[in-house]
Amino acid sequence: MFRTRPTTRREAGRVATVADPQREEVRRWIDEARRIVVLTGAGISTDSGIPDFRGPQGVWTRNPAAEKAANLQTFLSDPEARRASWRYRLEAPTRSAKPNAGHRALVVLQRRGKLDTLITQNVDGLHQRAGSRKLVELHGNIGRVKCSREDTLVERWEAPAGEVPRCAHCGAPLRPDVVWFEEMLPEHAVAAAEDAVRRCDVLLVVGTSAEVYPAAALPVHAQRSGAIVVEINPNTTALSAAADHVLRGAAGVVLPALVAALD
Ligand code: NAD
Repeated sequence: MFRTRPTTRREAGRVATVADPQREEVRRWIDEARRIVVLTGAGISTDSGIPDFRGPQGVWTRNPAAEKAANLQTFLSDPEARRASWRYRLEAPTRSAKPNAGHRALVVLQRRGKLDTLITQNVDGLHQRAGSRKLVELHGNIGRVKCSREDTLVERWEAPAGEVPRCAHCGAPLRPDVVWFEEMLPEHAVAAAEDAVRRCDVLLVVGTSAEVYPAAALPVHAQRSGAIVVEINPNTTALSAAADHVLRGAAGVVLPALVAALD
């Protein structure tokens, strides 16, 4: 699709720092692309003060037990896990966090007609608050609440302080509208994401450990359809070796620099 696309695996996975001349090559791909798709993960929001899960300072890296508790069965069977989940929802930095330079750079890319679809694994709502459109939320949004039995979204609820609110219709505990382990992703979101990556020229993969499926398979779908995959992440991930290009650095630095350098 692009003359400059790496043609051998040996060329793939080249690592560039922000100052590296290879960044110029990525900038050119972005400049020439007709349809760019971006996949973001928790790393784009760390500069907004929301810790990721699996980065060096991640919530689960520091507390592996928290990862094991992130499922519906634990939520339903363990009252303390339910209270902890609601405490997290109410106290998490997502409530006060603001979009950072990385989120804003993607808005600029979209307004310039370069960015087609923005796919996110994040549940923090910061892309919407930054002003991004055509957004696919793969893992839900912690700002929404739903019934844990009926799956219906709930707008209003009441609960005594410290208690977990319950569904007014069936009495089941209410839960955040996010995807936990062993749960299905929203079908329409997966279909939209797969369709977008199959039709793009360039897929930018920003701030994800690329360990959570099916999101982690999206770069593979993109490459099979002829797209160039560029990873933006300060750390090595499960994707790094397969990516066509790697820009090592924080999203809040690399993305604004790339967008500013476009013609
Ligand atoms: P992850 O925690 O598994 O990985 C985060 C990745 O971001 C790591 O590879 C890390 O090196 C990288 N990173 C850290 N700081 C960065 C920065 N400034 N710029 C670029 N990259 C940076 O996160 P994931 O891959 O998104 O998947 C885990 C799951 O965690 C998802 O389901 C997501 O819903 C959930 N999650 C979401 C949030 C949020 O909404 N902000 C926060 C934590 C976890």
